[in-house]
Order: sequence, then structure tokens, then C-alpha cells
Amino acid sequence: MAEQASGKVSMEKIVSLCQRRGFIFASSEIYGGLSSCWDYGPLGVELKQNVKQAWWRSVVQERDDMVGLDASILMHPQIWAASGHLKQFADPLVECKRCHLRWRADELKDNSCPSCGGEVTEPHLFNLMFKTFMGPVEEEANIVYLRPETAQGMFVNFQNVVNTTRKRLPFGIAQIGKAFRNEITTGNFIFRSREFEQMEIEFFVKPETDEEWFNYWLEERRDWYVNLGIKKENLQLRQHTKGELAHYARKCYDIDYRFPMGWAELEGVANRGDFDLVQHASYSGKSLTYLDEETNEHIVPYIIEPSAGVDRSVLAFLCDAYEEEPDKDEIRVLLHFHPTLAPIKVAVLPLSKREQLVQVAKEVYAELRPCWMVQYDDTQSIGRRYRRQDEIGTPFCVTVDFQSLEDNQVTIRERDSMNQIRLPRAELKRTLAAKLEGEDLFVLPPGGQIWKEGGNG
Ligand code: ATP
Repeated sequence: MAEQASGKVSMEKIVSLCQRRGFIFASSEIYGGLSSCWDYGPLGVELKQNVKQAWWRSVVQERDDMVGLDASILMHPQIWAASGHLKQFADPLVECKRCHLRWRADELKDNSCPSCGGEVTEPHLFNLMFKTFMGPVEEEANIVYLRPETAQGMFVNFQNVVNTTRKRLPFGIAQIGKAFRNEITTGNFIFRSREFEQMEIEFFVKPETDEEWFNYWLEERRDWYVNLGIKKENLQLRQHTKGELAHYARKCYDIDYRFPMGWAELEGVANRGDFDLVQHASYSGKSLTYLDEETNEHIVPYIIEPSAGVDRSVLAFLCDAYEEEPDKDEIRVLLHFHPTLAPIKVAVLPLSKREQLVQVAKEVYAELRPCWMVQYDDTQSIGRRYRRQDEIGTPFCVTVDFQSLEDNQVTIRERDSMNQIRLPRAELKRTLAAKLEGEDLFVLPPGGQIWKEGGNG
């Protein structure tokens, strides 16, 4: 991990906002927490779902050459022998001779303990897979593993997918799901935890086209983050050196994000060659080849794998969206999420708690909530309520005021520009739908106006 930090927002601020506003909590908090596990709160779960949906939409729904899969977490233990995980999925572990804390040897600057400065032991390899037992008897023969990646479920279903979908090369399988790694050192909030979610693609190609598809996916995946609002200057591509390459990879690039603690991996794009299908064919005794109709030959496809972390993406989207702006005597904190990712799309706010206003606002709320996640809020001053919505990244607030009772118009206030537009209620849903899709459309009625918050119309 590089030293250079983004400097824009500290991890403390992100953690505090997430806790305070209900994005992310420490797991099992009332019992003192469980190290490196996290719970997504009411807003966090929406954000995370939106990230996963945006990914699914871009890599499955909008493509002809991709299908989805949801494989089980527990799989045949031989899979981990074939994949190399039983032998190779290990980090070098050292222990401090004085305080007995354990560390990853490759993360230490020298041979001393980062906590107490004591001397550390020689490294030994520590397998990162969580073990458990299948069935009631806890014996060696019943050991199964919690999957440390979703990828293997896609390799072992290759033939099933080919047979049932009649997909021809090149095509891919995409999957989102939990993965578990008994990491030696965790930290940096949800960046590295022991239970996390991945969004992985296994894209099967003719061997001679691997370079072309590798470059395609590297660019495609970087653009996905940029299209959802991540600033280009906070992303970089980094090629793995020969020494760093995993045993299965012919080539690998990390898509790094400039997190508050420095540049670190958000997603990896690897050319896995024919390693996986060859290994599983050999261990299972089943043929995992593909009949190339042009040449009538059986070939083993190469695999290009873009492998992203859901939690790391959530963290990157949070950090990138965080902004503090001077605002009169205060600081306005806002998360300028892309509308697709915003946990709450619209907040409906009556100007006051007067019954007639509340009634209209509740009608508006009822009209909008079948379409989007919408919040209704009638507590405290309107200014405070706007700030609360800014802080959780709600792109639009709809305000109902006394004039609304007479002219049946409401005000939409935009989070980023703080512009306000007044429009007939009948146009509200259509206008919000267009705006949430990124169109700058609104219907200005006769006598309608646009103004800036705090301005006088
Ligand atoms: P690192 O080098 O940071 O340990 P890795 O190279 O082992 O990551 P991969 O095996 O390539 O990671 O996994 C693909 C993606 O899964 C990563 O880019 C990351 O987004 C996510 N990921 C991996 N390990 C974790 C973890 N412990 N916590 C959260 N996300 C993770």
C-alpha cells in the first residue's frame, strides 16, 4: 500500500458518519464487537444493494454475452485442492516473541513487532481458509471450507452453463456473493475484513484473443467506477510484477483507489489462462472443453477475471462522495452520490407540522414511494432537514409549503447545486424520474421559478 493518502477525508470522518447516520456498525457491538466484521445499517444496506445492482445491470442485464450465477458457499473440498487454495492460499505469519501479537511478515518494515518493537519469529505459512465440518461428526473426512472467493463456483459450473444457455465463446459468468478469509491483519474499516462480498466475472475466451479481452475488461471496469462518480484522479491501474503474480495468473492488474490511507486495491483483473478448467478437469475426471464450431476442435478456453470487492467499492464510493463546504457560519457536509447509488432518492418535507401541510406531504410521499426509496421527515427546521439529507446523500428534497395548498405546486431542491424549482404536483413524478436518470428536465409552469437556497427568488 503506497504512502500517499488522498488528504481529502480521513477514515475517522467516514467511520463516524457511517456510525452516526446508520450506514455501517461494528458487528455484535453490544458484546464489544467482533473484530473485522461489520453490519450494514438501514442506509448502508441500501447503498450496498445499489452498488450490486449497478454492477449486475452493467455486466449482466445490459450484455448479450454474460449470464449470472449464485453458487453455494460450501463446496466439495476437492475444489480447493484443484484450485491450489489448500497449498497456496497462505500468508507468511510471524509472532512477536515478547507480546505474542501476530503479523503478516510481508507487511512489516523490519523484523520487529509494530506494537512493542519486540523481535518476531521466523515466518510460517498460514492458510487463510475458514474450516468447518459437514454433518454431525467432527472428523478430518468431513472438513469443508467457507469459500475464500466466489470464482470457483463459476469454473465448476462452466459445462452446466454452456449446456443450458447455448452460449458461444466469448461469454462470461457473473456472480455476487460472500467470501471468507481468515486474514492475519485486518483493518481500515470495511477495506479488509474476514467476511466480505465479491462481485466477480469469469469471462471465457478463445486462447488467442486473451490479450484483447484482458485490455477490454480492464478499461470497462475502470470506466464503471468513473461513470458512477469516482474521480478519475483517484483511480490508477497497477500491473503485478512477476514476483507478485498469483500461481494461476499469466497477467494481472489492480485497479487501485486512493483511499484515505493511501492507494490500495479496489479490484483485480487477471488473465488466468486455462489454469482453472485444466485443473478441475484433471481433479474431477470430467471434460471441461468447448467445441469450437468453426474448426470442429475441442479447446480449453482462457479466462479473464475482473474480481471486485463489494465492501471496498462501497468504501470508495463513500470516500469519493464526501464533501465539506463552507455554508454561512457552518460547514455543510454532503455525500454527492451518483443518484443510482444514493440510498434515499427523495425526501418529502412539509415546511411545518401544520395539519394541512402534513396531509399533502403524506399524499406526495405515498405517490412516490412505490417508485423509489423515499423518506418523510417533518421534524426540526427545514434548513436542518436539508442538511440531514445532504449528509446521507439524498439527491432531491420535495418541499410542501403553504402556497402548495393554493396552487398545487411543490418545490424540488437539488442536493449539489442547492437550486430549487417549483412545479405542479402533476409533473413531480415524471420530473424526478428524469432527473434521477441524469436528464436535466423539468417543467417550468407559467409563473414557475428556479432559485438558489438562501436567495430571494
Ligand atoms: P489484497 O491484496 O488486498 O489482500 P487480494 O489480491 O487478495 O487483495 P483478490 O483475491 O484479488 O484480493 O480478491 C478480489 C477482490 O476481493 C479484491 O480486489 C477486494 O476488492 C476484495 N477483497 C479481497 N480480500 C478482501 C478482504 N479481506 N476484505 C474485503 N474485501 C476483500
